[in-house]
Amino acid sequence: MATLFDNTLKRLIEAAEHLDLDPRFLEKLKNALEMTQARLPIRMDDGSTKSFLAFRCRYDDSLGPTKGGIRFHQQVNGDEVMALALMMTSKCAVMDLPFGGAKGGVMVDPHSLSNMEHESLSRAYVRAFAHVIGPDRDIPAPDVGTNEKTMAWMMDEYSTIVGKRTPAVITGKPVALGGSLGRDDATARGAYNIIEHKARTLGLKRGARVAIQGFGNAGMHMAQLMAADGYKIVAASDSKGAVHAPAGFDIGELLAAKLHGGNVTSMAGSAGVSEIPGDELLAVDCEVLVLAALENMVHKGNAGSIKARLIVELANGPVTPEADEVLKAMNVVILPDILTNAGGVTVSYFEWVQNREGDRWTLDQVHARLKTAMEREADAVWAYAREKNITLRTAAYVLALSRIAAAMEALGTDKF
Ligand code: NAD
Repeated sequence: MATLFDNTLKRLIEAAEHLDLDPRFLEKLKNALEMTQARLPIRMDDGSTKSFLAFRCRYDDSLGPTKGGIRFHQQVNGDEVMALALMMTSKCAVMDLPFGGAKGGVMVDPHSLSNMEHESLSRAYVRAFAHVIGPDRDIPAPDVGTNEKTMAWMMDEYSTIVGKRTPAVITGKPVALGGSLGRDDATARGAYNIIEHKARTLGLKRGARVAIQGFGNAGMHMAQLMAADGYKIVAASDSKGAVHAPAGFDIGELLAAKLHGGNVTSMAGSAGVSEIPGDELLAVDCEVLVLAALENMVHKGNAGSIKARLIVELANGPVTPEADEVLKAMNVVILPDILTNAGGVTVSYFEWVQNREGDRWTLDQVHARLKTAMEREADAVWAYAREKNITLRTAAYVLALSRIAAAMEALGTDKF
């Protein structure tokens, strides 16, 4: 069976067919630059010691120091980390950021850790990978299972190791420690910037019905932004199940149910709301489907049940290549992950710039610069898609590859 890495590489190889590319560039991108694995032993609250397997992959640094999140999840593995690092390489290139791509992860269920154990594991991760990361080498950020508190501990540990305060080593920090304003909802806001910018081309009107798979950080912010502008959120799911409200949720109630009840199903039983099995969310009647959970959620077996005409990929790799084919035949438009969810890494880049300049931008500055960047690169992707008659996903990979190849070319042949 094809792995997530196989699927990601396949997309890059397909894109290469649309470029007059020196084959050595693609050959180089078939392997990661650096993949490090470590065992992290930590003392648990009950006095016992447990070891966790951890990874950091720097996939390619042609465009600059590598950048990518750290995931704490029980299913983390080397293939997934490498695939996500390759996606980050493409994502930074699509956004024209001066970064290569990386990713990290620890195989752990973060919900099983106490606050103190989470801190110990975060600090142990930095001790193990201190020689890999650095503000000019590799800059981590949060991902699934990690948050701004994790980033604060990691920045503090790194600063202790190198003997100087180094905020630019990591992004997604609390604002009090040099985090950027606007980082919390940047992923969803960036995606929403594209939706609004391209609404007419997409035939989308405010008031359209939206289903959201994965009501977590990215999904909740997306729901808030869309509902505030009149879109109707009609379904939402998380790992525990899904709820459906054909007439639209009161978004305040839905957010409160998730935040206080722990999952969206605690909303079931309210007027006009019914609980449905999680996998039925895809088949709900709606115009827009937001995928904000994990990888490979839409596959050959369930793609055909989708009713939406537009899919918004907030998650990384939520649609398999086989499902892409099914959805293409159904004329469903997909806003691809490496462009659509790049608002997070773009504001991470803003944070890195502010840290290096010892500056702080206002929220308005961050929002304005994010909007400019998202609209500029969305236009570039759409232009490639039109010119070459390819999907937006392939066009995004073509744009990414052309920029990475230009950097490789400029670096000269001695890098091969
Ligand atoms: P999160 O952990 O806050 O949210 C994920 C949500 O998905 C949770 O509510 C979880 O319960 C739900 N989920 C898990 N399994 C599910 C299933 N089988 N069905 C339905 N829901 C399920 O994580 P997040 O930060 O919101 O990230 C979500 C996705 O977006 C990931 O793929 C991540 O890599 C990607 N992403 C996030 C950011 C960001 O800034 N947060 C940036 C870029 C990409």
